[in-house]
Amino acid sequence: MPDRRTFIKNSIFASTSLVLPTLFRGDERRTPSISPEKYKPLLLSTWNHGVAANEKAWSVLQNSGSILDAVEEGVRVTEADGKTMSVGLHGYPDREGIVTLDASIMKGDGSCGSVAFVRQIKHPITLARKVMEKTPHVMLVGEGARQFAISEGMPLEEEKLSEQAEERYNEWKEEEEYRPIINIENHDTICMVGVDAAGNLAGSCTTSGMSFKMHGRVGDSPIIGSGLYVDDEVGAATATGMGEAIIRINGSFLIVELMRQGRTPQEACEEAVARLISKHENDIDDIQAGFIAVNREGEHGSYAVRDGFNFAMHHRAGNELIDSPYKYS
Ligand code: ASP
Repeated sequence: MPDRRTFIKNSIFASTSLVLPTLFRGDERRTPSISPEKYKPLLLSTWNHGVAANEKAWSVLQNSGSILDAVEEGVRVTEADGKTMSVGLHGYPDREGIVTLDASIMKGDGSCGSVAFVRQIKHPITLARKVMEKTPHVMLVGEGARQFAISEGMPLEEEKLSEQAEERYNEWKEEEEYRPIINIENHDTICMVGVDAAGNLAGSCTTSGMSFKMHGRVGDSPIIGSGLYVDDEVGAATATGMGEAIIRINGSFLIVELMRQGRTPQEACEEAVARLISKHENDIDDIQAGFIAVNREGEHGSYAVRDGFNFAMHHRAGNELIDSPYKYS
């Protein structure tokens, strides 16, 4: 097993060519999947598992739940899904073999809550909501977040890797280098943004973060403004992919502010990706990030740094999985 120093030396912060092969910069391709229609209610969720999350969230809305209830209940489905390797306690661990979770939730009136670096909690999104509703704070981390969960009667789960996570962790240790991975087969934070029929917005985001990250690493997902931002006056946006790159541009807040200045959700997502790329001239080949956004009228948009990002969209006509447009193939 590599020692700590080797890990750090080879960390993503030093590396520029580890994760993905050289890609085709300039080969910009757009898929014609985004339509300009306005839908209310509308739910958007990241990746394939967004379909099941949307299904649940839609049923909450149909049963008179609020948009906040819908985005919380929706992503709880993914948190409990043992097949998902980057959300919830079944996810891949950090490099010490420990699963730590990040989550955030936000309402269009500015209320928000988040938790980071949390262990043993099956539903960090619900813990984030409790931080929002039951404390004077926005964010709790680590042991403090776990203690708060206990005080709220949330059960602690046994700290044991899922079979698949353990197998992959053991393989990773064999590789003897510190190489956190995004967008190969083990990305997939679930993030959801939604608008109800009256134009109220909410969003949620929950993840086990980057696989084999440094112990203590926190990504964009629980950072309000980076992984998630919601404002009833404008719209909502959320992010998935390389958290460090998303934090650098405060991606979700940026998209909401661009929409405030008159951009459509699609234009705003594209501009956020352009901004992210501009900050990563030397290592963009290693980075994937994707954004989804909705405005209060029910228009939506999505854009990714590169091919491979998809999202689920649920409106009155049904629930569909859409390949996002992207900059590089
Ligand atoms: N954004 C997440 C993080 O950096 C990972 C992901 O979306 O897959 O922790």
